[in-house]
Amino acid sequence: MKLAGKVALVTGGSRGIGRACVQALAKEGAKVAFTYNSNSEAANNVVKELELDQREAIAFKADAADGQRAQEVIDAVVEKWGTLDILVNNAGIIKDGLLAAMSEENWLAVINTNLNSVYHYCHAGIRPMMSARKGRIINISSVAAHNGNPGQTNYAATKGGIEGFTRCLAKEVGRRGITVNAVAPGFIATDMTEAIRNAAEAEITKHIALKRLGQPEDIANAVVFFASDDSAYVTGHVMTVDGGLTLGSGM
Ligand code: NAP
Repeated sequence: MKLAGKVALVTGGSRGIGRACVQALAKEGAKVAFTYNSNSEAANNVVKELELDQREAIAFKADAADGQRAQEVIDAVVEKWGTLDILVNNAGIIKDGLLAAMSEENWLAVINTNLNSVYHYCHAGIRPMMSARKGRIINISSVAAHNGNPGQTNYAATKGGIEGFTRCLAKEVGRRGITVNAVAPGFIATDMTEAIRNAAEAEITKHIALKRLGQPEDIANAVVFFASDDSAYVTGHVMTVDGGLTLGSGM
């Protein structure tokens, strides 16, 4: 197991990509804490599944946009398990709409949940990592930051921000033995994409070189790579995991 004895925290770990990350990190031997926002039943199910498999897991109800709660969660993880080795900033939402009609409320909700959360959890989580002189931070971005999608100015702004943040923090903390990387998923089959999948899955698939939608596990595999020693000499990197969606149409 690649992560035996490690302690990990995943934001938004009760469903979708976050849930797959929690399961994959635990399968590799990590003790895994995760946060969720509102769906306690989904979170409890993840904990139960892992416990049945003899894994250690704990769930925290914590709005990712709440900085004070982020500090409380990090403190509780360090108090329980003594350290924090791996932080996965995954929590995210969409509130799509064309900019001309986008309310400030929908702009701020996405900025606060997707981007400010990365500040909160990294700000609180970097201290135990710096003390230990080791750590792995993995931020979940999106190919929307690279290509742009109409209706996603708020969302793409957060993901572009996350990628710049990732490179800056990588330079700040490299000397402390901490790596900071990002994964940019393409089109992944989760609750977040359910409506558009129902409306246009066949059309979307046509544009993906591998001719299938991504599964949450495809992203979790990249997260495990960045969490493990296999990526010991990789930092400040954004790995696109999109089945070739953003390769373009060629000549
Ligand atoms: P999802 O299926 O909607 O799951 C979102 C998870 O985040 C849930 O566990 C949810 O918990 C939690 N969450 C939402 N708001 C939160 C908040 N304010 N505080 C704490 N937790 C919160 O989403 P997903 O598709 O797995 O997306 C996960 C990440 O991947 C996001 O950052 C997203 O932008 C990114 N991404 C997804 C795709 C895709 O195609 N799906 C593509 C590119 C990037 P509750 O159930 O309690 O709300």
